[in-house]
Amino acid sequence: MKTIGLLGGMSWESTAHYYSGLNKGVKAELGGLHSAKIAMYSVDFAPVEAMQHKGDLQGLAAVMIDGAKRIEAAGADFMLICTNTMHEFVPDMEPEINIPILHIADATAEVIKESGIKKVGLLGTAFTMEKAFYKDRLIEKHGIDVITPGADERKAVHDIIYQELCLGEIKDASKAVYLRIIDRLAEKGAEAVILGCTEIGMLVKPQDTNVKLLDTTEIHAEKAVEMAIKE
Ligand code: GLU
Repeated sequence: MKTIGLLGGMSWESTAHYYSGLNKGVKAELGGLHSAKIAMYSVDFAPVEAMQHKGDLQGLAAVMIDGAKRIEAAGADFMLICTNTMHEFVPDMEPEINIPILHIADATAEVIKESGIKKVGLLGTAFTMEKAFYKDRLIEKHGIDVITPGADERKAVHDIIYQELCLGEIKDASKAVYLRIIDRLAEKGAEAVILGCTEIGMLVKPQDTNVKLLDTTEIHAEKAVEMAIKE
């Protein structure tokens, strides 16, 4: 079995789901007392969040490169970044390490293409919904049509992530906001909605809506388990 590297803490609330998801996945595949081999480095999220909102891209790249090197040094065979948003720095990280990064948008795109879905809605932080690094990868590399909510809705989705979900706060009112936005994306033709932030699965569950949800945390962890146990 390969050792899975995890660059986590963004936020730790979702990294905890990665840790349990990977172990449950390996147990489901191999049975008994089997569990995932994991090398994790988890950052302090407060300075990262401050740099994100200041737009300090150099500072963020430095944190991500440092984390990736620590994970490689700890013996990981490949690594996951446990946040959609920070995949913006994959191009900075890849030249600095010798292990592959399993990209969360590629893992999600595989599931989308396997399901025959052509058009998806994307929810995540404003960075993920508005910048090119995520959307364009889905559109250009994978040929998937991507739509995002309008400006006011994007702000609501973003604020709930940073002000509630990353602090472990799950509120019914916020769930209702998300479900309304998910319905609107479906009305605009989205055949499924990507929960493109690793905390959203804590708030919205598949049973809450008829719209197909693609939980990036779950998908990413499942793909990592496959990659870890295949020879
Ligand atoms: N975990 C989040 C994501 O998947 C947001 C926190 C962050 O900015 O990294 O994008």
